[in-house]
Amino acid sequence: MNDHPGDMSCEEFQSQLPELIGSGQMAANHPHLKDCELCQALLADLETIAEAARKLFPIEDPPAKLWDKIESALKNEEGGGPQDEAGAGAEPEIP
Ligand SMILES: [Zn+2]
Repeated sequence: MNDHPGDMSCEEFQSQLPELIGSGQMAANHPHLKDCELCQALLADLETIAEAARKLFPIEDPPAKLWDKIESALKNEEGGGPQDEAGAGAEPEIP
């Protein structure tokens, strides 16, 4: 299962999916999808979610939070825990 089509792994592709869909590009045309049923199914799921979200929320709202949730869900599916980005700690806490 090492010969993935296109020039990226499923992991790399999936990390770009939210941007692809969020930017309005046709993610379905991505070369990785041509031979990867796994990511085809994933994209279908994401588009279903995205479509539902567009109906539920006005377009003015940036979908950043939505994609945040989707990305978290994806990472959880892959078995990795949630990643806390608490790296910026240069400010001292004043009581
Ligand atoms: Zn794939």
